[in-house]
Amino acid sequence: MGKITIAIDGYSSTGKSTLAKQLAKALGYIYVDTGAMYRAVTLFAMREGVLEDARSLVRLLPKIRLSFVFNPQLGFAEMYLNEENIERAIRTLEVSKHVSKISTIEEVRLKLAEMQRAMGKDKGVVMDGRDIGTVVFPDAELKIFMNASPRARATRRYKELLDRGEKVSFDEVLKNVQERDYIDSNREVAPLKKAQDAIEFDNTDMGLEEQFQRMLSLSLRVINTVEN
Ligand code: C5P
Repeated sequence: MGKITIAIDGYSSTGKSTLAKQLAKALGYIYVDTGAMYRAVTLFAMREGVLEDARSLVRLLPKIRLSFVFNPQLGFAEMYLNEENIERAIRTLEVSKHVSKISTIEEVRLKLAEMQRAMGKDKGVVMDGRDIGTVVFPDAELKIFMNASPRARATRRYKELLDRGEKVSFDEVLKNVQERDYIDSNREVAPLKKAQDAIEFDNTDMGLEEQFQRMLSLSLRVINTVEN
């Protein structure tokens, strides 16, 4: 069966990774969570004390080794930084508060985009992020751009953080979601925007199963047209 590249971009907490994981599993594709990579660099910057010092961070970039290691119990790959499993550590609100600023640094983006292209070079990949359909894989056969109301998105993220035992307020989470959207959409390098040929998808009032079924049939339709 021929393989395609599926690029899923969109605003924060629109459920990109949930959908990407479901599609990858159903199609037997590799799933790449590019947000996890930006979060990993942010965690590294926090630990090195260079959050406010982009130059020093850029100098330290060669020390960052990132890898995804598949966890069969969870059914998806976890993020590793220099052989350490950082999957939990990168999902905190603290990392979320700094990640968009770190993501504006051009050298960081160049390094991560290069790794992402290498991971997707053989196709058969579902990659989610902010610039996948516009910059990383502008030739992706299927591009999905996801959105939902800020309140719906903050509610989802708030529940996730509470489930993980973080003590956060709803307002703090809503503010973070809106701030990240603003920085991501307005940065100079690879800003978040819908690719012209992306299919826009608002899931404010849609359940996960309906969303998955719709996107799976769309993916299969595209895979069939590519094969024929
Ligand atoms: O997807 P997630 O919310 O985990 O992404 C965290 C942050 O990483 C985003 O808010 C954005 O600043 C940055 N990011 C990016 N480009 C990507 C993926 C994520 O700038 N391709």
